[in-house]
Amino acid sequence: MRIAVVSDIHSNLQALDAVLGSLGTVDALWQLGDVVGYGPEPDGVVDRLRAVGAFGVKGNHDDAACGGESVDGFTPDARIAAEWTRARMNETTRAYLIGLPERLEPQGGEYTLVHGSPREPIGEYLDTTDAARENMAAFSTTYCLVGHTHVPLVLREERGQIKARLVGPETRLSIDERRAFLNPGSVGQPRDGHPSASYMLIDTDAAAVTWQRAAYDIGATQAAMLGAGLPPRLARRLSFGR
Ligand code: ZN
Repeated sequence: MRIAVVSDIHSNLQALDAVLGSLGTVDALWQLGDVVGYGPEPDGVVDRLRAVGAFGVKGNHDDAACGGESVDGFTPDARIAAEWTRARMNETTRAYLIGLPERLEPQGGEYTLVHGSPREPIGEYLDTTDAARENMAAFSTTYCLVGHTHVPLVLREERGQIKARLVGPETRLSIDERRAFLNPGSVGQPRDGHPSASYMLIDTDAAAVTWQRAAYDIGATQAAMLGAGLPPRLARRLSFGR
């Protein structure tokens, strides 16, 4: 089975469509939250996810756009974007976001899906070996798929220790019985220095995970953001992947 894993799409339909166009045939599409926020097309992104039958969880920006208290921890620009999203999205989008669970375990208990971390699904950044160690007891599957940091990363148990590995584009990782956190990076606002959309493919037959990038029309997303009155700084950062 081939499973595509995307995260942090952030209302960037140009980026999501580039990813969908480059995936090839997959058996499932999983998304790890932050469907909306920052970007200009919340309704378009949710329409697309519904059309392709994506299965996934809620992020802090999805919570904020629906009036949740995640907005309390936001930067001023993120808060402006959350308020813009809340005012502009339609009822279908709002119902979709509200209905996203905080945690899922598809595939016969091999994978746990959360946005942040298993012990704090909406809010925690799982980006250190300490955080990984502390979260190992908070899920029971072999792998835990996380987003939220916008940086592709593997944190894996190796002989009683946790090893962190930053993941470049086109990286392939063999997976086995060792428990691991796998982060696909971000589709709509990458922060690892590469501006193209990041995602992950799990091949269960080959027992391998690969990280891929899809180039997209960044200028089109930026123009739509500025046209919508979203903060220019949020548009500019897309050019740098920061
Ligand atoms: Zn995010």
